[in-house]
Amino acid sequence: MMNRLEQRDIEKQYNKFKTADLIKKYPNLNLGQYFLLVGLKAAPKEVIVNQPDFMENINGMMKTVSLNDWKIYLKYCVMHESAGYLTNDLVQENFNFYAKTLNGVKARKPRYKTSMTAVDYALGEALGQIFVERHFSADAKKKVNDMVDNLMASFKERIATRDWMSDTTKKAAQDKLAKITRKLAYPDKFKDYTALTIKNDAYVLNHFRVNKFNYKRMLADAGKPVDKTRWGMTPPTVNAYYNPTANEIAFPAGIMQVPFFDPNADDAFNYGIMGSIIGHELTHGFDDQGSQFDAVGNFSDWWTATDKKNFSAKTKLLVDQFNSYLAVDSTYVNGELTLGENIADLGGLTMAYYAYKKSLNGQKSPVIDGFTGEQRFFLAWAQGWKILMRPQALKQLVATNPHSPGNFRANGPLTNLVEFYEAFGVKEGDKMFRKKEVRADIW
Ligand SMILES: [Zn+2]
Repeated sequence: MMNRLEQRDIEKQYNKFKTADLIKKYPNLNLGQYFLLVGLKAAPKEVIVNQPDFMENINGMMKTVSLNDWKIYLKYCVMHESAGYLTNDLVQENFNFYAKTLNGVKARKPRYKTSMTAVDYALGEALGQIFVERHFSADAKKKVNDMVDNLMASFKERIATRDWMSDTTKKAAQDKLAKITRKLAYPDKFKDYTALTIKNDAYVLNHFRVNKFNYKRMLADAGKPVDKTRWGMTPPTVNAYYNPTANEIAFPAGIMQVPFFDPNADDAFNYGIMGSIIGHELTHGFDDQGSQFDAVGNFSDWWTATDKKNFSAKTKLLVDQFNSYLAVDSTYVNGELTLGENIADLGGLTMAYYAYKKSLNGQKSPVIDGFTGEQRFFLAWAQGWKILMRPQALKQLVATNPHSPGNFRANGPLTNLVEFYEAFGVKEGDKMFRKKEVRADIW
C-alpha cells in the first residue's frame, strides 16, 4: 500500500478505469462477480482505484496464498472488528494490544464512556438530536454563524493582499471562497433510523445490525447523485471538517462548547479558538491538497504555474519548521505529512485574528484580568491545544497522523505571526522568536 505521505497525493490516487478493463487487469480477483456479491444490483461502469499497487499485490496473492490462510485471515478480521463488543476477556485482550502496547494507555475507560462512544457510533444523529436540544441554543448557532461571516470576510481581504499570487488565480480563489457552503451544529434533516432494529439480545449482534444498516444505506446510494445535505460527523462530535469534493465546512455542536466556544465569553476568547478553528477549515480549501479542488469540488487545476511555484516555496518554510520539532525521544514531527494541517492552522489563526480586530469596530480591545484583547485572543488559542499524551501515543501520532502534536500546533503558527510578536512584545533572543526571512506568511 501507499504510505501515509504518498496517500496525500491526490493525483496518484485518482486512477479511473472502465470496469471491463479493470476485470481484465486483475483477473484473479474475479471482480465481475465481486460487485454483485457485495450487494450491488449491477457492476458500475467505471471505478476509481485509489491504490493500484495494492490491487496488483492482492491480485498476485490470490494465487500465492492458500485458501485456508485467506479463511483464517478473514476470520481474524471479523474477530478484530468485533473485539470491543465481545466478552470481557476479548475486550481486555484487544485493549492490551491496541490501547496499552500501541498507545501506552494504563486503564480501560469507565463503562459509561465506552457506551457513549458505542451509542454515538450506532445512533449518532438520534443521540445528536437530544444533545443539541439540551446543550446547544439557537443563540449559540447564530453567534457561530456570524463568526463564519466575519472569518470569510477576513479571508476575502487576505486573498486580495497576497503579493505572490496573480490576479487570475486570485479571482478563482475568491470564487472558491465565496462558494464554500457551511454546515453548523446539526443536519437540517436527521438520519432516518426506521430500518434499524435494536434488540434486547447480544451486544455484538446489535453492533452487526448497525453495520448492516449502514452498509445497505451505502449500497442504496450507488449510482445516485451525492446527497449534499448529509454530514460526515455526528452532532456531539468534538471536531470539524472541510470536505474538498463538496467545498463545504462543517462544525458539529460538540465543538461549539468550552474550551472552544462559549456564547457568554468575550470575542477575544471566541475568535482566538473557535474563530481559528473556523478559519482552519476554510483554509483547508486552500492548503496543498484542498487547493487542487475547484469551487464546485471537482479535482481541477485553477492555478497558474508561477503561482503554484510561489505557493510551494511558501509552504516549504512550514515543512522545514515542523521537521525541526522534536516530538518524543529522537522522533521528529513529519513536516510533509502535517503540511496541510499546519497551513490550515497558520491561515486559520491569521484570519481569526483579523476577524477579531474587525469585531472591535476600530475601538481599542478591552483589558480583562490584565490582558489586552489581542493577548487573550492568543491565550485562548494556546489553551485550546492543551494536551497530555503518553510517549507511545505520541510516537504513533507522529508516525500516522497528519496533525502535529498539540503543543506544536499551539506554538508553531505563532512563531510566524508578527501580530503575536506585537501582542506580547516578543523580540530577538526570545524562545518563540523566528527571523523574519524564515517566517511563513501564506494566506
Ligand atoms: Zn484540519
